[in-house]
Amino acid sequence: MENLGESHMQQKKGRRLILFPLPFQGHINPMLQLANILYSKGFSITIIHTKFNSPNPSNYPHFTFCSIQDGLSETEASTTDFVALISVLHVKCAAPFQDCLAKLLSNAEEKEEEPIACLITDASWFFTHDVAESLKLPRIVLRSLSVSSSLVYAALPVLSQKGYFPIQDSHDLEAPVPELPPLRMKDIPVIETLYQETLHQFAAEAINQMKASSGCIWNSVQELEQDSLAKFHREFPIPSFPIGPFHKYYPASASSLLSQDRICISRLDKQAPKSVIYVSFGSIAAIDETKFLEVAWGLANSKVPFLWVVRPGLVRGAEWIELLPRGFLEMLDGRGHIVKWAPQQEVLAHPATGAFWTHCGWNSTLESMCEGVPMICQPCHGEQMVIARYVSDVWKVGLHLERKLERGEVERAIRRVMVDAEGREMRNRAEILKEKLDLCTKQGSSSYQSLENLISYILSY
Ligand code: UDP
Repeated sequence: MENLGESHMQQKKGRRLILFPLPFQGHINPMLQLANILYSKGFSITIIHTKFNSPNPSNYPHFTFCSIQDGLSETEASTTDFVALISVLHVKCAAPFQDCLAKLLSNAEEKEEEPIACLITDASWFFTHDVAESLKLPRIVLRSLSVSSSLVYAALPVLSQKGYFPIQDSHDLEAPVPELPPLRMKDIPVIETLYQETLHQFAAEAINQMKASSGCIWNSVQELEQDSLAKFHREFPIPSFPIGPFHKYYPASASSLLSQDRICISRLDKQAPKSVIYVSFGSIAAIDETKFLEVAWGLANSKVPFLWVVRPGLVRGAEWIELLPRGFLEMLDGRGHIVKWAPQQEVLAHPATGAFWTHCGWNSTLESMCEGVPMICQPCHGEQMVIARYVSDVWKVGLHLERKLERGEVERAIRRVMVDAEGREMRNRAEILKEKLDLCTKQGSSSYQSLENLISYILSY
């Protein structure tokens, strides 16, 4: 990782970029990492952000921050229906965003500041297309999913026309989906929401506005998703820039919305190499009490040391871990450690970490692959189903927990990955993949070249 400020000064471009992240952890991290990457390449950066889940500007003194009113009520902000929340954000943010962007553009002109080259928005903020067009500003999108899962979302309207939805138990869930190999019926993204219709409209709109954008940036890697990228180029006639993995340039810790418990690192320091299983289901997923207890007992019965992130809000109806049986952690005699939020990248890079039981969010998956850590995949919703299938069947660096979440199943899965020969083979493949990914951002490699292409493309405006 290079010195940001020094690199910025040496490569100063005299152009400003405006970035607008979707206000969720898995989207904020890659957008702010991208901002750092582009800053280090000499661009000045302005971040427009909502008040809801606002990043902390003091962690980025080199950027300019503009906060817009999202007008969310407390009830709206605390809903667990992700689709309802995004839907409200789209309605409430459109006008404030337009005002803010128009002001930034006119200020830059009036004060003869460096010109604004383009807007980079999360691909899910599709209303920004019309705003950018009305202000004659090029709009590039950041897609913070894997390319393969984006293609699956793009295929949903066709699947819908063919009668795939709603997916019901009467369908053969193990059957392959001929339109989307290697997916099976059960891997087609589902999101629990009261607003299924809105969800499908959103997916279609985000895809349309992505097609209409000036280009697409991926936190992904040519070597990892060659076939999907080729398919994307056939279906989307826009320039595309796979420049990941972003965290190879700059870590995500500065954009963490929750404070990271660092004590877990000193506890890992005391553990044997590759002996600990790290468990985290990301920033949004929620599970019910029964599943929570099956996870807990599965971990306990495996006899493998664990570090488990139980984010407040992970367990529906609970504050934190009060639903664990009394004396649960004491019974483990120091073998189990639970935190509210961890410095995940450091945990995955730690020599004591032997495997990652993950929900297969794209950031978590990339972070794990970059450290050569094999995974147990427990997708919770949406594109996580697709990513899990790729981890287990395409990249073969993880085991997919496909059956009912039950303590015996969990215990067996942990032992298969941490102890058995099968796990050793998986770890070997994960190591080879890590070496490949290590090279991707180095000079002359695919992501490095894509980043150079992106910079020239932006400068061509
Ligand atoms: N993360 C973290 N600490 C934790 C759990 C997660 O810093 O205890 C970070 C993780 O490194 C990743 C992001 O939160 O960058 C989660 O994004 P992901 O796409 O994996 O899942 P999401 O939260 O969007 O479901």
